[in-house]
Amino acid sequence: MARTLITNGTIVSATGRTAGDVLVDGETIAAILAPGQVEALGITADRTIDATGKYVVPGGVDVHTHMELPFGGTTASDTFETGTRAAAWGGVTTIVDFAVQQAGQNVYDCLSQWHAKAEGSCAVDYGFHQIIGGVDEESLKAMTYLVDHEGITSFKLFMAYPGVYYADDGQILRAMQNASESGAVIMMHAENGIAIDVLVAQAIARGETDPMYHSLTRPAELEGEATHRAIQLAKVAGDVPLYIVHMSASEALEEVAEAQHRGQNVFAETCPQYLYLTLEDQLMQPGFEGAKWVCSTPLRTKHEHHQSDLWKGLRTNELAVVSTDHCPFCFKDQKELGLGNFSKIPNGIGGVEHRMELIYQGVVTGELTLERWVETCSTTPARMFGMYPRKGVIAPGSDADILIWDPGATTTIGVEHKHHMNMDHSAYEGFQIDGKVDTVMSRGRVIVEHDTYTGAPGHGRFVERGLSQYLR
Ligand SMILES: [Zn+2]
Repeated sequence: MARTLITNGTIVSATGRTAGDVLVDGETIAAILAPGQVEALGITADRTIDATGKYVVPGGVDVHTHMELPFGGTTASDTFETGTRAAAWGGVTTIVDFAVQQAGQNVYDCLSQWHAKAEGSCAVDYGFHQIIGGVDEESLKAMTYLVDHEGITSFKLFMAYPGVYYADDGQILRAMQNASESGAVIMMHAENGIAIDVLVAQAIARGETDPMYHSLTRPAELEGEATHRAIQLAKVAGDVPLYIVHMSASEALEEVAEAQHRGQNVFAETCPQYLYLTLEDQLMQPGFEGAKWVCSTPLRTKHEHHQSDLWKGLRTNELAVVSTDHCPFCFKDQKELGLGNFSKIPNGIGGVEHRMELIYQGVVTGELTLERWVETCSTTPARMFGMYPRKGVIAPGSDADILIWDPGATTTIGVEHKHHMNMDHSAYEGFQIDGKVDTVMSRGRVIVEHDTYTGAPGHGRFVERGLSQYLR
């Protein structure tokens, strides 16, 4: 088995930084050595990577992606192959994607389909959450089975999208009770979809069809309301661990903070789009341009304080995780399905490649510490979803999933610059990052170095996850 030494870097964890060398043996980390120990102990390796002046951090863990997701008459444009390659380019070494079940479908069949899509295709390791779009006796039984036998310990429910994935309060309660028994985490898309559908129909009837109405018909209050309801239902269901996905609104964050204050097992993630992009600057761009930024929950107005609240929430751990909700659609032929009717625009933004970069920029601008960057983008996602300490930390015995980050170089994001996702545009076109992905290692194999991808489809393996390691 090949041994690699990463020397002279600054090793950053969720709790601090140290100078030292990392010895990788085969697929795992064998040792962390204080400066001088390599020579003193006479340690040799097949290969040495000099990380002088660079940060050595655990590879990114993105727990919210949708590769090849069928949505609104089309399919998300990244396959597991192209999407995980882009993830690798962005310093991400583990994704957790969503297997989808809809009402009337068999959960096991749906899960098999997702395994078939991903197996042999991925550049980095991957796990699955299971979406339960139809809560009934059969799917409830399957939930328990998946926790016990399939390494799938988290289930996503939807309070939005009536007629597609929507679960009513009774169904939500039953799924939560089931998860409470098995120890699983319930992930929630918290928006009041019934009320939203009324607002959407009214807007279309008034001739308000431009992309910006996507946000205006999904007001922050309806995210806050659904978040509140989900939290109360989770409490009734025996304090089942509840994880609110893609949080964008101050109103929702307040609900989460309050529940945490009471000691409830309630957690939340946000995504780079909600930290950087707004209704006015992106969604309201002239013509149909704004369609690029149609996602749910939607981008919010910059005239309220959503973004500053979300950054603050990340600092205080009201928001524990940054994920991407990577769900890419090309502008041509895909986003264009909604020309003349915003409600037909496929919902999603591609970002799996840029999360480490965009959140690192928050370190540069003073929003977060370096340690908090590592914690929210790697360590906590691994703990939240039962992959720690195999993932999310640089420690002896952990998988050698390592990102070497160069704070002295810069990155320009955009289709003509750094862009490896299968999309004809970038949601972050022209963004400048004061740092750069230098080298990426996945289970001991270097998959990105010297601006070159050296990985391969099929290197990435399925990660069977345990129960959450983040509960109170
Ligand atoms: Zn999603």
